Amino acid sequence: MRKPIIAGNWKMYKTFDEATEFVEAVRDKIPSEEIVDAVICAPALYLPTLVDIAFETDLAIGAQNMHFENEGAFTGEISPAQLSAVNVDYVIIGHSERREYFNETDEAVNKKVRAAMNHGIVPIICCGETLEEREANQTEQKVEKQVKAALDGFTVEEVEHMVIAYEPIWAIGTGKTATADDANTVCGAIRNVVEELYGRDTSEKIRIQYGGSVKPENIKELLSKEHIDGALVGGASLQVDSYLKLLEAA
Ligand code: PEP
Repeated sequence: MRKPIIAGNWKMYKTFDEATEFVEAVRDKIPSEEIVDAVICAPALYLPTLVDIAFETDLAIGAQNMHFENEGAFTGEISPAQLSAVNVDYVIIGHSERREYFNETDEAVNKKVRAAMNHGIVPIICCGETLEEREANQTEQKVEKQVKAALDGFTVEEVEHMVIAYEPIWAIGTGKTATADDANTVCGAIRNVVEELYGRDTSEKIRIQYGGSVKPENIKELLSKEHIDGALVGGASLQVDSYLKLLEAA
């Protein structure tokens, strides 16, 4: 039985005050981490403060991106060593917005996953197809390529602790959700790729989220599906009420 994981991706939203008020408002209302892993992936600037506010609660704090090097002349970047030094637990890697607007390649994603694992940060590895790829029946081919590249070179113990987020690009921030059955089919295909690479046991342990216009109204149906172990949520994670409702559904 895989524990559901609900992660909010705040993207480049919220002022400092809004972010701290949100975490103060939810931290004592989060269901026990024995039932669900609750994560907020916040803008990097706020991470140490939010980690402090969420300390010893059931809420975990994550980053939305990081570099793969520990240090160096990379102006504007944040390293895995810097994230782990402020006790960040999760990091989103390879979000489609990073791939599209910041030229993040499959190779860079693999290096970032390596760096996250080296620092004990759980990577939430994103994959997903464009609308054109879906219409050309290339969905599974695309996610298989992305997942194989991201997971190249790890041990089974490492892979078991990773999280994969299947996010059809056409469903992100558009209000369009993949049907629960379609999302489950692709999450199942991803699980098969993990099985092919790392064996059945590992594929049964790794958690696979769906992301793309998830909201309180549709999360229950998505989570009822065999291969969907949680959600990566943008818009609906920005309000206290809807974030808590998402957690309650899990
Ligand atoms: C996301 O940012 O990963 C996402 C899925 O956004 P939204 O829930 O707003 O579609």
